[in-house]
Amino acid sequence: MQSSGKSSPRKEEKSSNIFSPQKNMKICSKGLSSFKMGRLLGKGGYAKCYEVIDLTTKKLYAIKIVNKSKLVEEESKRKLETEIKLHKYVSSSIEDSDDKVSNITKLYQYFEDAKNVYILLELCENLSLDMLVKRRIRLREVEVRCYLAQIINGLKQLKRLNVIHRDLKLGNLFLTNKMEVKIGDFGLAVQLKNPTAKRKSVCGTPNYIAPEVLDEERGHSFEVDIWACGVIIYTLLVGRPPFETRDLHETYKKIQRASYSFPKHVKISDNAKDLISKCLQIDPQKRIKLDKMISHSFFLEGFPELCPVTTLTIPPSIS
Ligand code: ADP
Repeated sequence: MQSSGKSSPRKEEKSSNIFSPQKNMKICSKGLSSFKMGRLLGKGGYAKCYEVIDLTTKKLYAIKIVNKSKLVEEESKRKLETEIKLHKYVSSSIEDSDDKVSNITKLYQYFEDAKNVYILLELCENLSLDMLVKRRIRLREVEVRCYLAQIINGLKQLKRLNVIHRDLKLGNLFLTNKMEVKIGDFGLAVQLKNPTAKRKSVCGTPNYIAPEVLDEERGHSFEVDIWACGVIIYTLLVGRPPFETRDLHETYKKIQRASYSFPKHVKISDNAKDLISKCLQIDPQKRIKLDKMISHSFFLEGFPELCPVTTLTIPPSIS
């Protein structure tokens, strides 16, 4: 996908499209008129997301709408282009694979009009784990095992494609109507040229950022997503992130020292604490590997394949 900055000015005059189609990516022949807009699902830094119904097939989707006024700078256009391209690549690669389950939100198509860029996504009707934990305050360990097993599967699917998500957090983990977990928002994701390559740009969401990302010199790789898993497990079980403070610099200092503690009023098993500490190792090389996570003793007590829909509001009867 080439940005308009790289295409000729004549081409730009003829079309309102800011992206030109890449070879392996069809632009949706449908426009917004093919869909009926439904409820607002949520707003992000760049986008608004609505539920839509395809008027022909009656299928439901989520549509992410980015107003072009937010894409004036070449840098933001380039970022959105990369996000769409990488997300589409990941989603089609998983579809073409033998994987029975995908734990990545599917990106179907994108299209544009004069005002907006539209990204058609798999609808995750039960919204994000962030909203779930806000509603429930904190989750039971059995639920965390169930969600984490699916997150690990999603990360394995990304790793096979040499992709690091780099913004794994509760707000980017979505739940379908069947309660499947889907990793979404590829705004900061990158594909490494090879599995040993490193990236240097500082990015991520403050509470979830890994120590090596804060130190640009060191470079970072797949292990940043494992660190984020540690933050996710802690946050789901405790109800707030481990390094949260009122001051960003203080949070970063705590991250660099991996300084966190467990509140006394919340009962957390030794197995859960051990897995969290293995994810939150300062040295990325000492961090637990993705393949080892699922055989950690935290998972020994078992868990359902999917959490029941009732757990969106009520804790499960088993812990
Ligand atoms: P931004 O890139 O601007 O941060 P997001 O990708 O986070 O935008 O999307 C904004 C909000 O839309 C999310 O916080 C979430 O509530 C909702 N959302 C995003 N994708 C989906 C989806 N596939 N299904 C349901 N809701 C979604």
